[in-house]
Amino acid sequence: KISADAQGIRTTCPYCGVGCQLQLKVHEGKVVGVGRDKSGSNRGQLCVKGQFGWEFIHHPDRLTEPLIRRGDRLEPATWDEALDLVSQRFQSLLSQYGGHALAGFSSAKCTNEENYLFQKFMRVALRSNHVDHCARLCHASTVAGLATAFGSGAMTNGLNELPFADVILIIGANVTETQPVTGYRLREAAKKGAKLIVIDPRRIDLVKDAHLWLRLRPGTNTALLNGMAHVILREGWWNRDFVAARTEGFDEWREGLTDYTPERVEELTGVPAKDLTEAARLYAQAERGSIVYAMGITQHTSGTNNVFAVANLSVLCGQLGREGTGVNPLRGQNNVQGACDMATLPNYYPGYRHILEEEERRFFESFWGVESLPDWVGKTVPEVFHGIHEGDIRGLFIMGENPILADPDSSDVEAALRRLDFFVVQDIFLTETARLAHVVLPAACFAEKDGTFTNTERRVQLIRKAVEPPGNARSDWEILTALANRMGLPWRYDHPKGIMEEIAGSTPLYGGIRHERLEKVGLQWPCPDMDHPGTPFLHEERFTRGKGKFHRVEHLEADELPDRDYPLLLTTGRILYQYHTGSMSRRSSKLSAMAPEEKAMIHPGDASRFGLKDGDRAFVESRRGRVVTSVQVTEGVPPGVVFMTFHYAETPTNRLTNDATDPICRIPELKGCAIRLAPA
Ligand code: SF4
Repeated sequence: KISADAQGIRTTCPYCGVGCQLQLKVHEGKVVGVGRDKSGSNRGQLCVKGQFGWEFIHHPDRLTEPLIRRGDRLEPATWDEALDLVSQRFQSLLSQYGGHALAGFSSAKCTNEENYLFQKFMRVALRSNHVDHCARLCHASTVAGLATAFGSGAMTNGLNELPFADVILIIGANVTETQPVTGYRLREAAKKGAKLIVIDPRRIDLVKDAHLWLRLRPGTNTALLNGMAHVILREGWWNRDFVAARTEGFDEWREGLTDYTPERVEELTGVPAKDLTEAARLYAQAERGSIVYAMGITQHTSGTNNVFAVANLSVLCGQLGREGTGVNPLRGQNNVQGACDMATLPNYYPGYRHILEEEERRFFESFWGVESLPDWVGKTVPEVFHGIHEGDIRGLFIMGENPILADPDSSDVEAALRRLDFFVVQDIFLTETARLAHVVLPAACFAEKDGTFTNTERRVQLIRKAVEPPGNARSDWEILTALANRMGLPWRYDHPKGIMEEIAGSTPLYGGIRHERLEKVGLQWPCPDMDHPGTPFLHEERFTRGKGKFHRVEHLEADELPDRDYPLLLTTGRILYQYHTGSMSRRSSKLSAMAPEEKAMIHPGDASRFGLKDGDRAFVESRRGRVVTSVQVTEGVPPGVVFMTFHYAETPTNRLTNDATDPICRIPELKGCAIRLAPA
């Protein structure tokens, strides 16, 4: 029971990309609960994570002092000792090997202000563009695909517009578990009469509300979307005026669809031709048709092609630039959109200004007061690990990420981290990754600092300091500032407000964003000036790039398919009660009790084939590793497919996954690798 004396501090949920507003209830300097806040776009609604996932804030495992490795042990140190060591070791590697030898991963759980400072620190102090973050593993294909097709890689429309759509196509997105409040919006739309078309190999919860469920074979998204476009063209259901006035590349793209007849697509995808045709008709003839997608289509070696196929379908039908329409990638983490906007990416400066454009580079050299900035495209997350193995990258700085559990082929990731000459982790807990570091810097969590997050619909919102950080932990922006000062940079930031002013000065999308303007309600970018009210939906009169561009894409098989030795396909994802690598949700007792351990979902036919019953323990093995897990026997997964999460350190699922990447955006294929099962 929350004390009646508890004070409510309005802030933003630290979990998923919906960015729900909530009240942290504070009593005697401690968070004691969470209350609802009706002023946000979530209208007071919260899911279990927002409501019960706060106990990690005061968990005894929180890091309270810097740690320095002495032999096999990480021992407490003062901030002076730790910052001196980090600056000396990075400076020494920089002078010996140059900026190409240093890399940094930022975090979609840190604020915009902190992500901005992180990439500035990497580029200015460490002279390196090897900067990336976890968007590489979730929506790099969205950024690459939608930016090329439309000129902007973000969600086109707002979450509260979904109930205005009359047809919503949901592909590769288990929305009720991964963005539950968006799931409420979809159910609201269905109750108002919208037809939901769910495209997913698994019987996800939304299937109950669906008008049509297309249960495609995993990894056949491009074929299915091309098939829908083929039918729409053949039947003349496309929007000729929109295509003529607002698009380019149509004729060449159209030629590439000839072979995607419903019959061939049925063979490729397993979706009956009549259902494909009905889905195509519904979407094309909708007054307002919206597409919602997530990592079910992005985390493939064909991830960018899948995003192009979604974009093609939407421009073909003119389902863009109006309320209740659009192409809507659902972002996973609370600030993954902001971390991309702030350019913790290897090829952009803030606001997607490309580092190879000389004019943009000159701007940032002048804006940041430096003589020169590195003029090369940096490495992505998977490329950084390869670079470490090859001896090219010798120093790594990770702020708030846990690749040992989150990244594919994680034994290889661990081996890479162990090779580093110098490795720094800044985090709120001693994660599986932090345990390998030479220096660990203790950070403040969302409840202990001010700043902003940008949610999945481009809405920039405040987080507010409610309590003090534990022990000597500090905010990430304070640590970065202190470190930059140690390395001779005259940074003088005393509050995230000032950092946001600097962001606004360099990032036109955020030109009119200031903390003061966000006090009442968040603003959706683009918000170019102080009088601008924000932009609820994009591409109203023209696309950001001018015209929407069609891209011809072909169905491609996954990098690794089941075979005689490894006869099942593993697909990975998240569940409602846990979050990512579990560092926060598993330290919140109610969430932990609701889903205490991994349960690999397997089909009853596969269970009997491999001698397993519900609740049994099983070995799951791929060519890269083996884990032990409990199994849940369910028809929710199709025959031949196993579903596991990456939430549990005791069952490190990513030891199994494949690090093959999409050739355009380098997203790894987390949605499919070959495995076998045996009773444990
Ligand atoms: Fe938090 Fe997402 Fe749940 Fe909202 S839907 S309460 S942002 S986890």
